[in-house]
Amino acid sequence: MTTRINLNNNYDIKIVQNINEIPKNIYDINKLKILNILKANKFVFIVDFSTIQPKQYKKLLRKLLRIKKIFVKLKKQIGEQEESGITVCYIINYDKDNKVQNDFILGINAIFFNTRHERYNYIYDTVCDYLDSFFYGKNLCDFKDNKCGEKRSANSTSYVGCCHHYKIKLLGPLLPNNLTLCEHLKEDHTCGAKCIGCKLFTCDYLEKKGVKFRIKDILLLDTFFNPLQKYFIKTMVFTPKEKIIKRLMRT
Ligand code: SF4
Ligand code: SF4
Repeated sequence: MTTRINLNNNYDIKIVQNINEIPKNIYDINKLKILNILKANKFVFIVDFSTIQPKQYKKLLRKLLRIKKIFVKLKKQIGEQEESGITVCYIINYDKDNKVQNDFILGINAIFFNTRHERYNYIYDTVCDYLDSFFYGKNLCDFKDNKCGEKRSANSTSYVGCCHHYKIKLLGPLLPNNLTLCEHLKEDHTCGAKCIGCKLFTCDYLEKKGVKFRIKDILLLDTFFNPLQKYFIKTMVFTPKEKIIKRLMRT
């Protein structure tokens, strides 16, 4: 029985159980050679999860993105138009509960956006949702009486977490700097900025609990951004999403 995974932009992936359900003349993702594919007029590919290893995912996704860009440039057909959508890919030996395989499928989805801005927006939101859901309902920072575990000993009765930063006083370095609450922190102590750099941040307290996020462990970030963009993603804390995406587009 064939089922589908709907991607954005009316594309889809067909999940098959049997190799006989796969049409002839489609490309095995393991054997993609850009020169061979250039001769084709249509691009549909197959992913057999039993034949690819997670350590290959980044390289394969980058190659797929290059091929897709070439097809767009040459105005060649991407996928097979069907009633329900445009099938770009068949997958076999897929385990729907396997997070690593599902991350690879998110990567395929990212590739078939029309513009780089749309792709970055999708990746940004998807990673933020993942990070939010990781923390949701767990109180990993152990907030108690408005103070998190790391700052428990702070001498303050108001909110103390990591949403503070130093503001340099206009009168110059002779005056002590002001530690102020981030302007994006809302009254309910949620973030109004959707700042991915802040979401990726983990202090010593969290790291001791085994919670640490590295860009190289998040397939979407590791695959689709260059080293400088990764640097900005990590370091642009206290910054709203729109500003970060703008920076990534210029890099
Ligand atoms: S990440 Fe660390 S410093 Fe920030 S709120 Fe959580 S426990 Fe506190
Ligand atoms: S931008 Fe960062 S520091 Fe500011 S509220 Fe959001 S998470 Fe906190």
